[in-house]
Amino acid sequence: MRADTSESRESIRELLGDVRERAARFLESLPERRVNAARGADDLAQALGDALPRRGRPASEVLEQLDKIGSQGTVASAGPRYFGFVTGGAVPASLAANWLAAAWDQNAFSEASSPIGAGVESVALRWVLELLDLPETSGAAFVTGATMANFAALAAARRSVLLAHGWDVDRTGLHGGPEITLVAGEQAHATLFKAFGMLGLGRERAIRVPVDGQGRMRVDALPNIAGPAIVCTQVGDVNTGAFDPVGAICDAAKQEGAWVHVDGAFGLWARASPQLGAPVEGIERADSWATDAHKWLNVPYDSGLAIVRDADALRRAMSLQAAYLPERAGREPFDYTPESSRRARGLEIWAAIASLGRDGLAELVERCCRHAQRFAEGLRGAGCEVLNDVVLNQVLVSFGDDRTTSEVIRRVQRDGTCWCGGTLWGGRTAMRISVSSWATTSDDVERSLAAILNVVRDVARKRG
Ligand SMILES: *Cc1c(COP(=O)(O)O)cnc(C)c1O
Repeated sequence: MRADTSESRESIRELLGDVRERAARFLESLPERRVNAARGADDLAQALGDALPRRGRPASEVLEQLDKIGSQGTVASAGPRYFGFVTGGAVPASLAANWLAAAWDQNAFSEASSPIGAGVESVALRWVLELLDLPETSGAAFVTGATMANFAALAAARRSVLLAHGWDVDRTGLHGGPEITLVAGEQAHATLFKAFGMLGLGRERAIRVPVDGQGRMRVDALPNIAGPAIVCTQVGDVNTGAFDPVGAICDAAKQEGAWVHVDGAFGLWARASPQLGAPVEGIERADSWATDAHKWLNVPYDSGLAIVRDADALRRAMSLQAAYLPERAGREPFDYTPESSRRARGLEIWAAIASLGRDGLAELVERCCRHAQRFAEGLRGAGCEVLNDVVLNQVLVSFGDDRTTSEVIRRVQRDGTCWCGGTLWGGRTAMRISVSSWATTSDDVERSLAAILNVVRDVARKRG
């Protein structure tokens, strides 16, 4: 296919028209289709992959095959009744922006490669900082998700706490340098320890701080800190939704010169709501924050943000030099990110916030929390045991002994009305309900509750 003929221009128009129809059909099917996927990965791999094709086929054929086979392997996580992990859908403006961005195919690494890529990040960052009430001079990296956001923020932390003790880690690495005291809660997210590992700090070296019954770090149990130290807190426990007392931890740890980091993959967005008040207070006193736009802001995968109070610390940990690189004029994205070439994620964040506005995002967050309350109330009303204080968008529920709960989870997933995952909480098996999507309505909550309670009754009948 030659890109410069009018014939090929016609066919790209047809191809994109075709994909628009296919995508719209998919999205329109979401409210009524089963939430679980119809086919598994091995089966799909077989269907898609014979021998490596020697000759190519027309793009329209490739697309048709992908849609026919691929859509059967999708989980309806973009739909209104997916409550697994902490997922979120994509608000329409952000999905549309993602399509346009793919057509633009901009390399957002610098202003020279994409003025819009660099420019939109600056606006998106300013808006996010204002929404989350974080210091307006913070530096930030637009990355794939909270794992990389934790990594980037902690790279700045590592640099900063070592430099304060006379050690330049960027130049000479960790070899022979002072030890960093790492502190994290017993319930810190697994990806935090992966970030420690990638930073050469070791996955297993952190001092783990005991937590209360909701998974919150106990301030009275913080270890003594001396020398270079990084204290990692969490807002939004993946099980309970609970927040560490970040303000109080800052008061204790920063006095000793420690860097306080916040993993707020989904919980940080609670700061967009004025209603959620007390538990989110004090978070602005930390030194760095990691969050996911693909969770509660509801932009398409993948999209995370590392935010660092000392913009220079992040810039020095991440920037690079080469003769062919442009002179810095304004904010250059590649000065802040682990990656160099990358897609323009700022576009979707900008579009989501532009379409929702401050009030719309607050409403989205509050609505998810109300839905979680209703789930808890409906389940308790039917005699099920809710294991957590439902303070945010997360509900943990047990249906009796572990075997029964596991059986209920399996059947809820198979039933297909909604999808919820399992977890362990306080040594017990529990079902997790995470309400994170803009698309979930009260009706979806009632339908899901009815489906779950049907399964519960059915399991009880068979046991009895
Ligand atoms: C989801 C989550 C992460 C990991 O985020 P990714 O976007 O999957 O990298 C880290 N921490 C917490 C608290 C999370 O909820």
